[in-house]
Amino acid sequence: MTHPAQPKASHFINGEYVEDTAGTPIPVIYAATGEQIATVHAATPAIVEQALSTAKAAQKAWAKMTGTERGRILRRAADIMRERNHELSVLETYDTGKPLQETLVADATSGADALEYFGGLAASLTGEHIPLGEDWVYTKREALGLCVGIGAWNYPTQIACWKGAPALACGNSMVFKPSETTPLCALKVAEILIEAGAPAGIYNVIQGMGEVGGALVTDPRVDKVSLTGSVPTGKKVYAAAAEGMKHVTMELGGKSPLIIFDDADIDNAVGGAINGNFYSSGQVCSNGTRVFVQKGIKEKFLARLAERTGNAILGDPMDEATSFGPMVTENQMNIVLGYIEKGKEEGARLICGGKRADMDGYFIEPTVFADVTDEMTIAREEIFGPVMSVLDFDTEEEVVARANDTEFGLSAGVFTKDFTRAHRVIGNLEAGSCFINSYNDAPVEAPFGGVKASGVGRENSKEAIKHFSQVKSVYVRMGDVEAAF
Ligand code: NAD
Repeated sequence: MTHPAQPKASHFINGEYVEDTAGTPIPVIYAATGEQIATVHAATPAIVEQALSTAKAAQKAWAKMTGTERGRILRRAADIMRERNHELSVLETYDTGKPLQETLVADATSGADALEYFGGLAASLTGEHIPLGEDWVYTKREALGLCVGIGAWNYPTQIACWKGAPALACGNSMVFKPSETTPLCALKVAEILIEAGAPAGIYNVIQGMGEVGGALVTDPRVDKVSLTGSVPTGKKVYAAAAEGMKHVTMELGGKSPLIIFDDADIDNAVGGAINGNFYSSGQVCSNGTRVFVQKGIKEKFLARLAERTGNAILGDPMDEATSFGPMVTENQMNIVLGYIEKGKEEGARLICGGKRADMDGYFIEPTVFADVTDEMTIAREEIFGPVMSVLDFDTEEEVVARANDTEFGLSAGVFTKDFTRAHRVIGNLEAGSCFINSYNDAPVEAPFGGVKASGVGRENSKEAIKHFSQVKSVYVRMGDVEAAF
């Protein structure tokens, strides 16, 4: 019997499901059991061509609609996503293994927020009038054209919407390629947009590995590429986009600092560290994986952290009581277990966890290392799993310098009751998305993105509009034209 997660076909192009079984089969494995629940096929060159030519052809008419009309469609799609939240959350859990307790509140709901927010902005995307005596200049905010979105596997619905909603609001069309690890959810986003009244062809989804992503990025018809992925992939995609002088948004990896001063409320700080390391089993790009704790409260912090981490409920992700799911794949589990071994070898003190959980699926126990030092591998490299490194510090000046000593710059957080210090420290940290007495909130109203190797551009908020549109400036002369001859 076909599993309920199996999509009707692999791709969604021009308003309908499309199949081409000549493409390499991509198995979809449910991370909680290791069972294959679906198969899709990577896009063949014919599918890539079909998606790009369809999106290119559909874009101009979409851009000619009023912002109010485009916005209405996006907001309708948001309503449909909310109505179907349960079904979409179950699919997100099948796609990623993340517990339903999380997916019910963080995935289709956050996708719907993006559709609603950018749907609301669509009608207000105007230019300005610049008076120049008798003459004037007016500006128009125009669509870029055909945009490509390429997703990572940790938030397949959210990423499909965080890229699609602002792109469409601005009058662009999109070809979206989900991660080959989580191909299912983006198809639903495409389906829902059609149901909401979107013209066929403005949002298309095709499957495939890096090769298909590469074919999209290098196509001369493509005007913009928005990638969520790792730094090495980001460098390749950025370089390929530069060849064609394409616009880019790069949402890449991180190794973010979370700084806890000794005047912080310990329970809130522990809560922040848990949210910033163990949500989605640690598979979150903005995680605060270097937790710097001021020496005065270190042992108290570690004791409370170990106690609360012991309350994590590992189990069937479809059971809403489960609060901690598996790694997305066996491969990711092995990568993370490798880092845990490195932590032990390099002399970090294991506080809790530290091994694969004794159950089916790709579960790793939530793991905390203390006495981590700056040069240890677990303090330098992005692990993308439930491994928290706790480092000690004495002074503010010292911790800011150490926090910034990384190629990454996605996020940073600070816990303290001293607000002057909180703002000063955040001001001195090299990061794009920051938190004071909180960690990992990502409301659509706030810009999201990194500095340094963590990325280029911003998603969400009014900032995203700037990255999916461009300004045309028009000089209007009222008098005669003077010329030298
Ligand atoms: P990845 O870099 O392996 O893959 C990302 C996507 O790029 C996939 O869809 C993949 O098929 C595609 N791809 C790979 N090579 C390509 C190429 N040469 N040309 C075009 N496309 C190509 O990343 P992943 O393992 O799927 O995701 C984990 C990474 O993503 C982590 O580093 C994480 O920090 C990062 N991430 C960042 C954010 C953010 O918003 N900053 C969010 C989630 C994940």
